[in-house]
Amino acid sequence: MPVRIVFRCEFCDARPDADTQLSLEHQLKAELFGEYLDAPPSNWLTWTGRGLFGPARYACAEHRGDLTAYLRTHYSSVGPHPWKKGPYLRHPPPRSRPDSSLTRAVTPRSGKSY
Ligand SMILES: [Zn+2]
Repeated sequence: MPVRIVFRCEFCDARPDADTQLSLEHQLKAELFGEYLDAPPSNWLTWTGRGLFGPARYACAEHRGDLTAYLRTHYSSVGPHPWKKGPYLRHPPPRSRPDSSLTRAVTPRSGKSY
């Protein structure tokens, strides 16, 4: 049964557009501790949290500064991670369809597919 993950901005309850939703879903696979991640294309900001850094948190482009301020206020005693400055890591989603030119380049001439 397919599951849809609902992301919301911590500050205004906004939801991401479809492409940013894919970025945010892809970021869930990253096992990072106390890191900021940029979520293109709508410039959302993710805080991965974990452990003493609390839960993952998300902010829309308008509220990125509010998220970093909140984290620096509440988690700066845990470690320097909330003070990290951008540009942050990006984990853009893989292309939804394979690039046909790349697929052609790696497909063996025998026609076998892997
Ligand atoms: Zn917001």
